[in-house]
Amino acid sequence: MMRNILLGLGVIGVSLIACQKESTMESIDKIDAHIHIRYGGTEVLQTAAANNFQLINILVDHNGFSEQAAWAKAQEEIDDGHIKTITTFSMVDWTNPGWQQSVIDQLAQDFEDGAIAVKVWKNIGMVERKPDSSFLMIDDPVFDPIFAFIAKEGKVLTGHIGEPRDCWLPLDEMIAESNRGYYSRNPQYHMALHPEFPAYEDHIEAVKRMLRKHSDLRYVGCHLASLEWSPSEMAKFLDEFPNAAIDMSARIDDLQYLDRQEVRQFCIDYQDRLLYATDLGIRNGDDPNRFCEKLQEVWQENWTYLATDSLVTIRGSETQAQGLNLPMPVLKKIYAENARRWYALEGW
Ligand SMILES: [Zn+2]
Repeated sequence: MMRNILLGLGVIGVSLIACQKESTMESIDKIDAHIHIRYGGTEVLQTAAANNFQLINILVDHNGFSEQAAWAKAQEEIDDGHIKTITTFSMVDWTNPGWQQSVIDQLAQDFEDGAIAVKVWKNIGMVERKPDSSFLMIDDPVFDPIFAFIAKEGKVLTGHIGEPRDCWLPLDEMIAESNRGYYSRNPQYHMALHPEFPAYEDHIEAVKRMLRKHSDLRYVGCHLASLEWSPSEMAKFLDEFPNAAIDMSARIDDLQYLDRQEVRQFCIDYQDRLLYATDLGIRNGDDPNRFCEKLQEVWQENWTYLATDSLVTIRGSETQAQGLNLPMPVLKKIYAENARRWYALEGW
């Protein structure tokens, strides 16, 4: 009898340990759906594998991207079980009549080479101008054949359009300390100082008009689709566009300043539409060990915030936020299943 009780307690003990283990960061499959790996070493992929992470490596139309593409290829050659690439296209010569076809030809080749999606960046809306000097926005008809081609190929458009709303606010009205730091160091990007540039809402509305035109296009809005300040605005966006998801890259700290209960409920209500991501990056010449340390630190901090109810210190500030303690089925979706579904990576 005593032996049976002890055996029974032993079983409870083992299942408690199993339960505890189940909730550590390493214990579930995860995808960092937005990262920039621009070097040829193996350290990042080793760190990813050790932490049970797969990576989605994104090229950006900034200072040309052929070098980024070569590094991305090199990373896939090291271990394509742990890394996939999102390609992009260049806006150079976009007013030339042959530009659209040359972009489509390049993307066709990129898809054949394994690219899973196409990134568009904030240079559309904030840098590129039309011949009449107005800004070229993401819903401009010049993009229509390109986006139609991406949809026809069953691929995804991944968009970083606009900036966090803080960018249009005076420094002392910004929500996130990290934004205050960034825009005080980079006044050229601080839109509150540049009223001649498109307003925050102009970018948000341009994305919506584009998605209304391309209702069959799967879309991932990077950085919480630049709606990071409002769970209800994110909810409205996701409700209107069933083919859209949002990645959380570089905006988890923005969420940490908001009402915890509201953010938690949003994550639960939209558990099928959120992709975990960091937006961290390494360039050739950076110290890979330091980068990997930071990567692991951010992954762990984000896990503590999303998966537990412990207090975390918000990056770049002294403010603390309490973790969301999301249920395990929700975590599994946000951390991997949604990225797999959106980017058609079943079996990867
Ligand atoms: Zn990025």
